[in-house]
Amino acid sequence: MIRILFLVIFIYSFLISKELKEVSLQLPWKYQFQFAGYILAKEKGFYQDINLDVKLKQWDENVDVIDSLTNNKIEYAVLRPTSMIDISKGKELVYLATIFQSSPLVLVTDRSSGISSLSDLKNKRIMTSGDLGSDVSLLSMIFSHGIKLEDLLIQTPSFNTQDLLDKKTDLIASYISNEPFTLKELGGNPIVFNPKDYGFDFYSDILTTSKKYLHNEENEVRKFREASLKGWEYAFSNINESVEIIYNKYNPQKKSKEALIYEANELKKLAYHNTNELGKMEAEKLEKIYNIYKLLGLAKNNITFNNLIFENLTTASSLNSEEKSYIEKKQPLKMCINSNWLPFEKMENDNKYKGMAADYYAILEKNLSTKFELIKTTSQNEVLDFIKNDKCDFQSLTINTHNIEDGLKLTSTIFKVPLVVATRLDVPFINKLEDLKNQKIAIAKNYVNIEYFRNKYPSLNIVEVENTQEGLKQLKAGKVYGYIGTLYSVSYKIQTEYFNDLKIAGKTNDELEFTIGVKDNNEILFNILQKVVNNITPLEKKELTDKWASTIYEKGVDYTLLWQIITPFILIFLFGVFFYTKLKLLNSRLSDQKKFINTILDIQPNMIFIVNDKEPVFANRFFLDFFDCKNLKEFQKKHSCLAQTFIEEELYFHLGKIVDNNSWIENILRLKSEKRIVSILHPNTSITKVFNVSIVELEDEQYLISLTDISDTILKQIQLENKSTHDKLTGAYNREYFETHYKLIINEYIKEDNLVFLSILDIDFFKKVNDTYGHDVGDKVLKQFVNVIQKSSRKDDLLIRWGGEEFLLLTKVKSIDNAKKVLENIKNAISEASFEGVKHITCSIGSTNYNENEKIEESFKRADDALYEAKNNGRNQVQIK
Ligand code: GH3
Ligand code: MG
Ligand code: MG
Repeated sequence: MIRILFLVIFIYSFLISKELKEVSLQLPWKYQFQFAGYILAKEKGFYQDINLDVKLKQWDENVDVIDSLTNNKIEYAVLRPTSMIDISKGKELVYLATIFQSSPLVLVTDRSSGISSLSDLKNKRIMTSGDLGSDVSLLSMIFSHGIKLEDLLIQTPSFNTQDLLDKKTDLIASYISNEPFTLKELGGNPIVFNPKDYGFDFYSDILTTSKKYLHNEENEVRKFREASLKGWEYAFSNINESVEIIYNKYNPQKKSKEALIYEANELKKLAYHNTNELGKMEAEKLEKIYNIYKLLGLAKNNITFNNLIFENLTTASSLNSEEKSYIEKKQPLKMCINSNWLPFEKMENDNKYKGMAADYYAILEKNLSTKFELIKTTSQNEVLDFIKNDKCDFQSLTINTHNIEDGLKLTSTIFKVPLVVATRLDVPFINKLEDLKNQKIAIAKNYVNIEYFRNKYPSLNIVEVENTQEGLKQLKAGKVYGYIGTLYSVSYKIQTEYFNDLKIAGKTNDELEFTIGVKDNNEILFNILQKVVNNITPLEKKELTDKWASTIYEKGVDYTLLWQIITPFILIFLFGVFFYTKLKLLNSRLSDQKKFINTILDIQPNMIFIVNDKEPVFANRFFLDFFDCKNLKEFQKKHSCLAQTFIEEELYFHLGKIVDNNSWIENILRLKSEKRIVSILHPNTSITKVFNVSIVELEDEQYLISLTDISDTILKQIQLENKSTHDKLTGAYNREYFETHYKLIINEYIKEDNLVFLSILDIDFFKKVNDTYGHDVGDKVLKQFVNVIQKSSRKDDLLIRWGGEEFLLLTKVKSIDNAKKVLENIKNAISEASFEGVKHITCSIGSTNYNENEKIEESFKRADDALYEAKNNGRNQVQIK
């Protein structure tokens, strides 16, 4: 017994004495929420779990970070994408993950500076590094407004926001997550210029190591990356706790808790900007960023972007010895295929393997230098049976159906295909699946998780069919109203068999993810195939899907012709915008031109549209996607003029504001550039977007119009302004604020798949309060009423004083039950609170679910009716309509 005890103690002490390996992570600034993920990974023991003792190093101007990395003085660092310039000059670095999908770097000024637009920047003082390299996004944004570097008075940063108010400078380069808040705390009125709004969208805070270190410590690097991301996930989902830790232990800048919380929320948005996947990096985006550096003359050499990203690189490196010997011994690998599933795959009579999968497997065979033996199957059940009985090692293509199939382990996604709805020709276009109440819709079993669709669209009558063939047959025969299948398989079938009967009438927001299914206990083969899947480059993927998509679509746009027409225009645009830079580079190499042009056209959130003598001649992909049009012709069919899509709203430019016989372009050009804002309804989501319009006159009557989505910024600006948005007596938002901006506010709410509830709160018998205790007491009650609501509602709820003792509450919730609970809570909080001078009051609440497709007045009417009911039913209650 004693011996066992000793043994236990021995093992235990062995375990706890296990040495942690010390590594260091160099941060690019002093501790703040910007590094919360690493701080939390350390504090929560995520690093310790992988036997690492990570030393966090704050910024030190004497350290050359990239040199330290490549000379093994430090193991890890957080870098900006400008490090690609160093990489292009031969520094061997590897990017592990990017924390911010979009850079927090912005320009901030105070309203008192008189600067209201970027074109006011001439001869202004700016505190920034002035180094083209590190401030690329800021400077590109400035340059794109015709201001040159010589026009700016660059000052060394003092890192003191007060300088803006003391007029020691006009603008500072800063983080959106810090200085705007500090400036407001100091009593200023921040105005923010965000490069993202002008099309310069950069990664930031990239976790990096050196190639050498990765080579020696691949396992550690992988775990370090995972633990760090786990830290970030923890930090973003537990902001209060994280702020508490940073505030108490990592706060050399003595930030307030409020400032840290503000920082956290802003950074969280950037971390999840356009993605759900924390840390995600894409070679294409790196390439776009790098092309801008090139355009600015900061870099010349070519780099292989795939080799920059850890996830691509490690899989590209050869298999380990165990995996290699597996492949050698196990020739050929037996692969189950579906013998008749075009365009995905098919086995022809002459035993030729065809389809998208065939193209992928050519790449796989080449990368693995091995051969596959193809085993024909006709159904998914047969595949599972073959896998179970070792007649196959894996399945070529299978669909990730949200529930793991028996016996198969799935690799990550090879490609995704959108799901569309096919109907007979006479059915009108389907805008939203939800609109099809009680219609019979077929879905092929085995393809998608039927339950998922049943839950998502409870109003549909979803029926199962065997496969696409069967579904379309029933559709043609009128047995079902629609069939949901992948874009590729449905369009392929329609083209080959049902051309005169069926069409694609709409799309869903879902995509099917195609993966490889490996026998679930074959760990080695799984790892091998996973590596090879990761190793397919984005370019290869694009080429393959394009190839099959283009054989499927009828005649698409002839892009070569388009290029011939477009190139000169775009070049003029480029020259106009980037005139100041070393554009000789662009002149010199013709092959690069197209790439640059591509870059400019593709740069994220811009819609680009060219008109020649009032006739549209070009629209870029983003533009067509936004308006949900296949090509320009289709757009013209829907709208005779772009300006027709502008919503008539007082704040923004629209056709009603045209004052003479000239075109809308000439009219909008007369406005100051910051007033060139329009608002357009997104046809698919019915969400209103606000765009900044910039126009370049290319030649006489030839204009290039670029529209940038600034909805987020506008909303933030409005909220930062604060002044005229709040009711004086109670501090709630005022009615004017809501009425002017409700579209943006509600969009922001709907974005994350929430229900939005609009509720009217009215104090019961308030006249009596005034009559009995006087108007002053009534005023106090109103103030306290707002206080109580704000305390008992959630942070994001928006309270507006609608008039008198009536308030509007905007809440986002996940369900009706959820809404009921929130509102009941508020009602109870009021009736339980003790009000100064009058003891108790009650209120009645009428509420309704705001419906995206209706006018706001209709929602109000319903809420009002509900309130009326609440009052009639005896007050002090909630009614939901
Ligand atoms: P109920 O809603 O339960 O039907 O009865 P009520 O007595 O609240 O009726 P009603 O909504 O018609 O009356 C609202 C009263 O609120 C009328 C007005 O005197 C008072 N009121 C409106 N604005 C203010 C204000 O700013 N301060 C004060 N003290 N009273 C206000
Ligand atoms: Mg009233
Ligand atoms: Mg009342």
